[in-house]
Amino acid sequence: MTPLLQLDTVTKAWRTPAGLVQAVRGVSLAVQAGETVALVGESGCGKSTLARLALRLTPVDAGRILFDGQDITHASERALTAIRPRLQMVFQDASAALNPRRTIGQAIDDPLRVHGRPNRAARVQALLGEVGLDASLASRFPHEVSGGQRQRVGIARALALDPAVVIADEPVSALDVSVRAQVINLMSSLARQRGLAMVFIGHDLAVVRHLADRIAVMHLGEIVEAAPRQRFWSQAAHPYSQALIASVPAATPAAARARGPAPLAGDLPSPLAPPPGCSFHTRCPRAIATCQHQSPPLIRLAPDHTARCHLLTHPVLDAAASTGHR
Ligand code: SF4
Repeated sequence: MTPLLQLDTVTKAWRTPAGLVQAVRGVSLAVQAGETVALVGESGCGKSTLARLALRLTPVDAGRILFDGQDITHASERALTAIRPRLQMVFQDASAALNPRRTIGQAIDDPLRVHGRPNRAARVQALLGEVGLDASLASRFPHEVSGGQRQRVGIARALALDPAVVIADEPVSALDVSVRAQVINLMSSLARQRGLAMVFIGHDLAVVRHLADRIAVMHLGEIVEAAPRQRFWSQAAHPYSQALIASVPAATPAAARARGPAPLAGDLPSPLAPPPGCSFHTRCPRAIATCQHQSPPLIRLAPDHTARCHLLTHPVLDAAASTGHR
């Protein structure tokens, strides 16, 4: 089946005063119609840059982006204007994404007006209901509602043009913990009801635990593992994925004691100077000598499960040749 959204060995570097930041390094990712893919990794790993590349909000340095089988890597602004209604984004900071001088009703109406859609007033009311907001909020301004309600407005606005794909960039990380689950549940049920494809970007595996059909883990500009949700939780093969799973709070104190301390130590290395070899080797508890100078190949563990790790090709070296990085 042709993926709805496909990134093929996409690369992006940012020029900064400190030097060249390798934000995204040869990433390939395919999202099928109706599928929710969670893209997970620490701050600074390149997730948000990847979202902007997928939406063609920023140009790629190399690689290809395909939407519904059409190569949009170098599509003109005019061609993108026709595509963008079907490819929408939910931003992390709804306050910044909404114009403070436009009412909530106007904010949801804006994309409908720009694209000349009929029955706009009724459509705005329906969208408010769909995201669980009272119709009376249409006349309020963004600063007059709560953070959770603002994010619901952002979601309504993203859905206004009936997109096929929504990319949600850390949509709950700016919200109070108490409302995060409500917004996640809302996005999950909207994606299901509408048959939406969704890329849900986050840094917390616990958040995407029940939401995603598939999980892709990103480390320093690369996807190091991708697998269906059930398989990921039971058979994650990459030490970084295993460390992220171990970092998810355990359900009970006894389970936490049995699991022991989370094995992920140290900060993400600087993308200005990624470590040679495997980019995770400076923090990997299972690194072998090869990891310090040779990039691991992408290994297909199952038709829909891939990972980048030398241990998957040299498992016999695992225990014997560990360099003992902790
Ligand atoms: Fe660890 Fe080496 Fe695998 Fe990288 S390639 S995750 S350093 S064992």
